Amino acid sequence: RAKQRGRDTFHLFDPNHDRLLQVRHEQRQRFIDALTNNELCLYYQPQVDMRSGKVVGLEALIRWQHPEEGLLAPVQFLPIIDTTPLEVDLGEWVIERALRQLSEWQVQGIALPINVNISPTHLLVSDFSQRLGELLARYPDVPPAMLKLEVLESAAMHDIQAALQNMARCQSLGVSFAIDDFGTGFSSLTHLRQLPVSLIKIDQSFVRDMLTDQDDMAIVESVIYMANRFKRPMLAEGVETLDHAKALMALGCDLAQGYGIARPMPAEALPTWLEIWPGREEWGSLALADN
Ligand code: C2E
Ligand code: MG
Ligand code: MG
Ligand code: MG
Repeated sequence: RAKQRGRDTFHLFDPNHDRLLQVRHEQRQRFIDALTNNELCLYYQPQVDMRSGKVVGLEALIRWQHPEEGLLAPVQFLPIIDTTPLEVDLGEWVIERALRQLSEWQVQGIALPINVNISPTHLLVSDFSQRLGELLARYPDVPPAMLKLEVLESAAMHDIQAALQNMARCQSLGVSFAIDDFGTGFSSLTHLRQLPVSLIKIDQSFVRDMLTDQDDMAIVESVIYMANRFKRPMLAEGVETLDHAKALMALGCDLAQGYGIARPMPAEALPTWLEIWPGREEWGSLALADN
């Protein structure tokens, strides 16, 4: 009670604090407008099997086409809505968009699964699977297996029972899961055993320096070893060079995503990229050399 009073007092007499709250409020209002005015869009980054060269899926990444500030990356606006209910609104918007895109591409003969990032707040809401079911029902032509949800290890960590329950329900709808940024959370091993995930994504921070930093190399090696022991497919994020690609394949990780393969692109650019990709000489010879 005394603590509560103290906080109120602080609040009352600190004009800076009020100002900050005001700014946050305005930023959130602006974000709500962006959601309703169609200023948000999804970029797509290909995920490939380096051994065969086959494109195995796409990750949907949110962008804000801001009328004054230009194209904004998630790091520039996701903090505004962090741990607020707006994360749920955004998450549902992203899932709906991804399903709509799957439906459109299906008509054009492009059949690639889409991975969607789900925030910890969103994953843990009680009617998560029910809402997902409703969204899937709007696109009856899209097989639910074409949608994969990327969740952070730390999200599950926060409330493991709720996470496991929601994930199991989504799985029964036919949707699968990936662990994102694997290796950055705590007690990775425990989670790997418990969580119903069909893909492990090793965090790009370890991949980036693996060729020069022995500790990062050790982490990458261990994660690949573990994933193989648990018989879970694994994908390396942040594959920027052929040398990274070769090292990862030698360690037993064939799936990759990164600027070396393709940067995230607007949906309209994908069909052209899909035509160009098989002709990317150096990546083709990489697969051949290793076989
Ligand atoms: P993430 O899910 O781990 O996504 C991978 C990020 O790494 C993306 O950044 C991608 O553009 C970037 N990336 C891919 N390949 C490379 C590479 O070779 N080198 C480097 N340096 N970076 C690479 P982006 O699009 O800025 O997204 C950042 C984070 O924002 C994502 O990390 C994800 O946590 C979050 N995010 C993105 N879209 C959504 C969304 O729709 N919903 C939610 N809740 N979070 C999202
Ligand atoms: Mg992701
Ligand atoms: Mg990641
Ligand atoms: Mg990340």
